[in-house]
Amino acid sequence: MADRAETHALDAQATIHVAGEWRDAVSGATREILDPADGLPFAVVAEGDEKDTDLAVAAARHAFDHGDWPRTPAAERAALLHRVADLLVRDRERLGLLESRDAGKTAEEGRVDIDCVADAFRYFAQLVAAEAPGRVVDAGTPDVHSVVVHEPVGVCALITPWNYPLLQASWKIAPALAAGNTFVVKPSEITPLTTVALIDLLVEAGLPTGVAGLVTGAGHTVGARLAAHPDVDLVSFTGGLVSGTKVAQAAAPTVKKVALELGGKNPNVVFADACATDEGFDTAVDQALNAAFIHSGQVCSAGSRLIVEEPLRERFVAELARRAAAIRLGRGTADGVECGPLVSERQRAKVEGYVESALAEGAVLRTGGKRPEPAPERPDGGYFYEPTVLDQCHREMRVVREEVFGPVLTVETFRTEDEAVALANDTEYGLAGAVWTTDAGRARRVAGRLRHGTVWINDFHPYLPQAEWGGFGKSGVGRELGPAGLAEYRETKHIYQNLAPKPVRWFAG
Ligand code: NAD
Repeated sequence: MADRAETHALDAQATIHVAGEWRDAVSGATREILDPADGLPFAVVAEGDEKDTDLAVAAARHAFDHGDWPRTPAAERAALLHRVADLLVRDRERLGLLESRDAGKTAEEGRVDIDCVADAFRYFAQLVAAEAPGRVVDAGTPDVHSVVVHEPVGVCALITPWNYPLLQASWKIAPALAAGNTFVVKPSEITPLTTVALIDLLVEAGLPTGVAGLVTGAGHTVGARLAAHPDVDLVSFTGGLVSGTKVAQAAAPTVKKVALELGGKNPNVVFADACATDEGFDTAVDQALNAAFIHSGQVCSAGSRLIVEEPLRERFVAELARRAAAIRLGRGTADGVECGPLVSERQRAKVEGYVESALAEGAVLRTGGKRPEPAPERPDGGYFYEPTVLDQCHREMRVVREEVFGPVLTVETFRTEDEAVALANDTEYGLAGAVWTTDAGRARRVAGRLRHGTVWINDFHPYLPQAEWGGFGKSGVGRELGPAGLAEYRETKHIYQNLAPKPVRWFAG
């Protein structure tokens, strides 16, 4: 089982998990999984469709309605989640490399992802283990016992993207299980392998049969069916705005709970005072580089809009461009490589289109803007693209307004605090943003005015499993992580018990 998703032979793998069994697609269809570093297939998975989805949902429904898991005590569910975390730590190297190969990230990024996945399982285990069983409400009379309890919502459909395949899945699977739900997960069709591997770990940890289902396949077939399915009680989706809107529409007729984690166009606001010392300058530039280019910018919270105070612009952008040009691109497992390829040819073409349109609209290219030269660590067929800095951008440009999801940083400038805030909030998204300043009052003022779900002050990118993650505006609906990330997977029930029932006599007859 452990080798299921990591085989390098191109035998098709039975990657659909229904009622405790691994299966091929009902149709027999398969899909090749490509290595973004060379464009070559390295695994083959089952290509499920609506029929496979129906089978998986039926199994999850049965496990929820008739199985023990929803009624298993929280301490036991927590213990299982801790065992999963232990298994993730045991398999860190294997899974980290698999994530690196599948998603095109560096091996170290892959390993860090697995650490974060284990952290998510531990966090939700601790959260449910420490909870009181219910909240007693004072009904104002000793004759009534009133308590509010939380129950699992039911069958959860979990749809995930390709950029952080297992991490995004864990932010859904861990709270769904902690709350006592059953689920069917649909990983991205581009990067399903680590999610397939996780199911084996859940089974190894002792999860009862039928609680966890997985269907590999496309969004318009498997994903759409999950969102619309009448036996699904909740759909939690992470992905782009266009697909997220379709999920919400498909889910509406059955009035299921919907959680959406969508895109971002995240501002990184740098005030000149943050760069008054050499150390401050170096830190702000270094973090702006990290904000924009880690995982080739394929990060929902990527700091893709640099908004810098005008007098600082030239010095800041020159240093940023110099360092961006020095980023070592290559296969994620090659020595010394700092950044991998884009995930697909399609994604690279999209990025190229944005850069072309920005240049046509007047942006000034400071570095990048093209595919890198071939090199031993960069096979010809890989989807590489140079880290790109576009100066002199403005809010009317498509590259400033839309999510590029690639290694492209745009530069805008401001002269006043009000102008900085207005620019930072001038987006239909609202996922994350940062402010760099040494003025504590200004830091608090600006953070308070930013319309984004996460605001960093003098930092970029860290998140905590204990703190909610999610967006304002078109960045989504609902929250992952933190107590609210568990609440998404629950129904709330008020139990009112009359200890001394008497007639009410409202009606006289
Ligand atoms: P995507 O929307 O193309 O796909 C996401 C998932 O949805 C995939 O599994 C896909 O198969 C499925 N899907 C596609 N169409 C569907 C449909 N009609 N019905 C149901 N499911 C469907 O997104 P992607 O390209 O895989 O991921 C990149 C996007 O994800 C970016 O916009 C990024 O910002 C976003 N993202 C957001 C967060 C967050 O926390 N807010 C985290 C990671 C990624």
